[in-house]
Amino acid sequence: MPRTVVFVHAHPDDEALLTSGTMAALAAHGHRVVLVVATAGEAGLAADGLRADLGERRLTELHASADALGVSRVELLGYADSGLAADPTPPPPPGRRPRLADAPVTEVAGRVADLLREERADVVVGYDAQGGYGHPDHVAVHHVAAAAQAMAGTPLLLEATVPRARLLAAARQVNRLLPRSRQVDLTPWTRAYSAAADVTHCIDVRRYARSRRASMRAHASQATADSGARTLGVFTRIPPPLFGAVFGREWYRQPGLTVPRRHRSLFATLPPRELG
Ligand SMILES: [Zn+2]
Repeated sequence: MPRTVVFVHAHPDDEALLTSGTMAALAAHGHRVVLVVATAGEAGLAADGLRADLGERRLTELHASADALGVSRVELLGYADSGLAADPTPPPPPGRRPRLADAPVTEVAGRVADLLREERADVVVGYDAQGGYGHPDHVAVHHVAAAAQAMAGTPLLLEATVPRARLLAAARQVNRLLPRSRQVDLTPWTRAYSAAADVTHCIDVRRYARSRRASMRAHASQATADSGARTLGVFTRIPPPLFGAVFGREWYRQPGLTVPRRHRSLFATLPPRELG
């Protein structure tokens, strides 16, 4: 039976890094995949020359990524990108939507809940409580997705995450391929995402490496920072066989659930749909 899954993401490119394989797999199996993105990612890192119209550029990249993954609908919430805590963006001018991290959770969640109802969504996907690596917009998405699920009565909430030990191992492997000056500082990653015991679902997406790579490549502006190695830029340069090994799985946690063995299907704990 075809299902509808709504993925809520903070910025363009988050879908590429965290859930693109699952999205491509669902679409390939005839399910409806809806992508909600809260901001245009205009405060993220990029080359200075791209700064002026960065938000617009990133939304174009987002649509190319969604096409590569077979997404049926892209919905933009239009909040301002909050930026990272050390370098927050100024509040937007009056009349514009606030930074996502400043917007009332109930307001943002209400808009997502309307979409969940309209889509009669079976599953809504948000982020873990850490907001992955702790970006305030990602923490906001954690709260928004949970509140929207409760408002709309969507049967299942899952949180995209990564077992942090696995992430660190993969990132160290990538770092080893790079000259020292381009290596990524992994210190913040030691507190990011989830402990292995809290991860309830592990989806094998090795067959969708081509779609994942196309999704990452679509976000060309993410790989253009003037200083240091950007995570996405590093990842898209991984040679294909290694790419499959590093990005062959995606992980989710179902809040409140503990499992002896991780579920292999996103729908493993979804209650049967009521008739009528
Ligand atoms: Zn993000």
